[in-house]
Amino acid sequence: MCGIVGYIGAKNCIPILVGGLRRLEYRGYDSAGIGVLSQGKALVVKSVGKVSVLQDKLDKLSISSSIGIGHTRWATHGVPNETNAHPHVNEKNSLMLIHNGIIENYAALKETLKLAGYVFKSDTDTEVLAHLIDSFLNKGLTLFNSVRAALNEVEGTYGIAVIFENEPDKIVVAKKGSPLVIGIGDNENYIASDVSALVAHTQQVVYLEDGEVVEVYKDKFIAKDVSDKEIVKKVQEITLKLDEISKGGFQHFMLKEIMEQSESICNSMRGRLVPTEGTSKLGGIEEYADRLAQSKRIIISACGTSYHAGLVGEYMFEQFAEIPTEVEYASEFRYRNPIIYPEDTVIFISQSGETADTLAALKESKRRGALCIGICNVVGSSIARESHAGVYIHAGPEIGVASTKAFTSQLIVLSLITLLIARKKRMSLIDGQNVVSEIEHLPEKIESILRLNDGIEKIAEDFKDAKNFLYLGRGYNFPVALEGALKLKEISYIHAEGYPAAEMKHGPIALVDKMMPVVFIAPRDSTYEKILSNIQEVKARHGRIIAIASESDDKINDLVDYTIKVPDTIRMLMPILTVIPLQLLAYHIAVKKGLNVDQPRNLAKSVTVE
Ligand code: GLU
Repeated sequence: MCGIVGYIGAKNCIPILVGGLRRLEYRGYDSAGIGVLSQGKALVVKSVGKVSVLQDKLDKLSISSSIGIGHTRWATHGVPNETNAHPHVNEKNSLMLIHNGIIENYAALKETLKLAGYVFKSDTDTEVLAHLIDSFLNKGLTLFNSVRAALNEVEGTYGIAVIFENEPDKIVVAKKGSPLVIGIGDNENYIASDVSALVAHTQQVVYLEDGEVVEVYKDKFIAKDVSDKEIVKKVQEITLKLDEISKGGFQHFMLKEIMEQSESICNSMRGRLVPTEGTSKLGGIEEYADRLAQSKRIIISACGTSYHAGLVGEYMFEQFAEIPTEVEYASEFRYRNPIIYPEDTVIFISQSGETADTLAALKESKRRGALCIGICNVVGSSIARESHAGVYIHAGPEIGVASTKAFTSQLIVLSLITLLIARKKRMSLIDGQNVVSEIEHLPEKIESILRLNDGIEKIAEDFKDAKNFLYLGRGYNFPVALEGALKLKEISYIHAEGYPAAEMKHGPIALVDKMMPVVFIAPRDSTYEKILSNIQEVKARHGRIIAIASESDDKINDLVDYTIKVPDTIRMLMPILTVIPLQLLAYHIAVKKGLNVDQPRNLAKSVTVE
């Protein structure tokens, strides 16, 4: 999920690798490492934390080499420490491998390799691949053929680069689901996971496609597909300039992260759906799945955006998992005297996994005997470690302070947990399969919503000077109203409130006049007719209305001032779609106000204080 760089040529590769890793820092990572052939021998240097720490280490070693690979890791399997950082090596220390992505069947492969005598040092999925390639080298295969044979056994996603002492004239690279590019130089070649690491050196690049394996020499490269057929690759010119790349071409991390959501939710669901059974497979909670399904009650404890994800979870759990569910702010939960029974399950949601209030609530719940499940993004974080079991959302690093892609990935994980429990209870196979298929179709629906970006930017222009905003929704979309209001508050400093649409009559309607923008989240569902009445009530008081509506809805346009249409899906998944226009609206309003979107005033990304 993070960064790969590599070099083969006549120059010393160390500054090139470190420079490339620095260019990839914008993607977020937790550790870094390089692997080079130094006097013909494989040499690996790794460090936890920033690339500057790695640089300091390398400065002391004064190594020089003309072939090397470098990696920034964003941990998915195993905590961020030096042992788990890449490159990973084989036992003879003659092969070095870096990897972006996830090897889904790593556990089964690891067992087989252990039986064959392999010893593992790290907790990563990547090390499995290093030993697997080694097992083919031991059978006498070339590096290229060993890599290809190993990849044939692998399920999951990867961008990899491998160097082998016995074949010192090449780097072997391969790609499936994770980006990889070759940079063509003059008697030298580069590799990278992202062109931003290449632009300082060359404008000529070759993009790899899924399933391709390539031998990169200093003066040529040979690309082959799975059937050993050589592929003629097109060399392309990159137009990106150095000053455009710090955020992968986006103006802000927040926009980059909003735009990534079709991909990040894919990573959250990857390898976890079982279409034939109409259910999900979640390794991290497998052992506790029955206890979870038999819980008398579920309590979800979280803060901020994660709390809003929890509220959507409440609707899902009660409707399909048939377990009474409560959601509570972690800060409140820990300071009252919560009644927690051993038959309860408490779910803790935190992007960083370090949120102080959520962590404290977790410790208290554990002390009281409940089953504690963590839903976190950062692998090896405190909440992930303290929980009895958990599910990582695998959304990739989130750098913008206002959470966006973590929210949609949290909702994916909550829907997978719902499916798992519901199928153990009364959800039929057909209904389960329908949920699976609806989840699988979300990425393309998100893509179509992201294409509305320019239109949403125009709407933002009309509202950038508003002083207040109301966000209204019902059912599953009530938490989306809260989340839309939170996004706007966080980055534009406009006062915004989210309310259940029907509650409006009990107070907030007093605020509505021609100056008040009101955002209705009004897809066609069982509450649609009711929400239309709420829209009429606001219209009668001259409020300015923006509606997030279903693509199929041609009635709503006449009632409201602005409509943003999203594709339909089943109710429980609708928030994953309806929240995206609200993220974009908040983003564009804040940009138009000239505010620092990625680091809004007074806010921190990971709230580690109470
Ligand atoms: N799954 C690998 C690991 O946890 C690679 C992570 C990455 O893409 O940075 O080490």
